[in-house]
Amino acid sequence: MNTPQRVVLVGAGHAHLHVAAHADEIRAAGARVTLIDTGMFWYSGRATGMLGGRFAAEHDQIDPRAVIEAAGGTFVCGQVQSVDRAQQRVHLADGQTLDYDWLSFNVGSGVASETIAGCTAETNCWPVKPIANLSRLHDTLGQAFAAGEAPAIAVIGGGNTGCEIAANIAALARRHAASDARPTIRLIQGDDTLAPSLPHGAQRRLADKLANLGIETQYNRHVTERLDGQLLCRDGQRIAADHVIVATGLLAPPWLDDLDLAFDDGLVVDNTLRSIDDPHVFAVGDCAHINGHDLARLGVFGVRQAPVLLANLVASLKGEALTHYAPQSKWLSILDLGDGTGLATRGQRWWLGRTSLWLKHWLDRRFIESYRV
Ligand SMILES: Cc1cc2nc3c(=O)[nH]c(=O)nc-3n(C[C@H](O)[C@H](O)[C@H](O)COP(=O)(O)OP(=O)(O)OC[C@H]3O[C@@H](n4cnc5c(N)ncnc54)[C@H](O)[C@@H]3O)c2cc1C
Repeated sequence: MNTPQRVVLVGAGHAHLHVAAHADEIRAAGARVTLIDTGMFWYSGRATGMLGGRFAAEHDQIDPRAVIEAAGGTFVCGQVQSVDRAQQRVHLADGQTLDYDWLSFNVGSGVASETIAGCTAETNCWPVKPIANLSRLHDTLGQAFAAGEAPAIAVIGGGNTGCEIAANIAALARRHAASDARPTIRLIQGDDTLAPSLPHGAQRRLADKLANLGIETQYNRHVTERLDGQLLCRDGQRIAADHVIVATGLLAPPWLDDLDLAFDDGLVVDNTLRSIDDPHVFAVGDCAHINGHDLARLGVFGVRQAPVLLANLVASLKGEALTHYAPQSKWLSILDLGDGTGLATRGQRWWLGRTSLWLKHWLDRRFIESYRV
């Protein structure tokens, strides 16, 4: 009898959730499947709604253990720290090791907050990833607002995420309006426009909307240091801030660069999602760099890569030809502005209103419910 091959999935990101839910297809091809993650999957589509108080934390989470066990696979709770590719073995932070024949990474991304000196949890700096940070931020700010405090809050980074975060902190303060709490919310943008990836008209409407929500935007300002309850800027400006939310963009986990595989802010994979250097290693989502493409870091790409990854793991086990992934050129993105409206964009088309938010809630609910087992 042949020994079953071992497929090890590192990180329960969007694509691996799909593969985990279809683990029976991999088992039918003669392999054991193991998913390793540090705990729950936090769905970023609902993260700002959770921060603003619309959703409870448990409504923003999926249990990856339940998903893979329902399909006959195994879950290991832990953090992968390194990989010995010569031995085909992964090492976890708690000392466990797991051997693999086929390895796939879907470990997401982080925020490079260390580029701002003195920016730590102890100085009340909150990177927007991991998403669990935003749940803790909701609790901390909610308690302060409920106690009638009016902290000064600075959001660094005026991209889509920073705008959504600022709008939903304003929403959280409104939920506690009876307490007279009137926090100062400042959005600090290094550029001269907000959300540069959006169409110009949508950028202008977004800037007006944030101003109407009481958010003060500062443009062309680069924060360099957190010191004595303030933010120091390159132009000498000092900004008082009790809490700092760091939304300066997402980077692939740097430890993946130690795998001795092509790495360019992500493991470099070809259009089969396989490392260009090691045919036994796959990578998807924010931690992958698809050769020849410069994809935005969005969950929607991981969702589209998922069926291709599943097909290619099964094909690898059977020694069959692999399927090609082609990234979509346009995608729907909807920002939750915390006041019952959403800003939807797809290519150059955009719509700001209640129907956009209704659509976002419907899509997000459909995604989360598809993994309830
Ligand atoms: C506030 C906010 C809002 C966003 N809103 C949207 C949105 O509305 N739509 C959208 O498309 N994108 C959105 N994004 C972007 C989105 O979060 C990312 O692009 C997306 O999460 C990437 O998905 P992924 O599948 O690559 O990884 P993730 O969803 O980040 O999952 C990675 C998983 O890997 C696990 N992991 C990490 N390291 C290890 C390790 N060493 N060992 C084991 N497990 C590990 C983590 O625990 C996590 O479960 C938002 C981002 C932020 C910060």
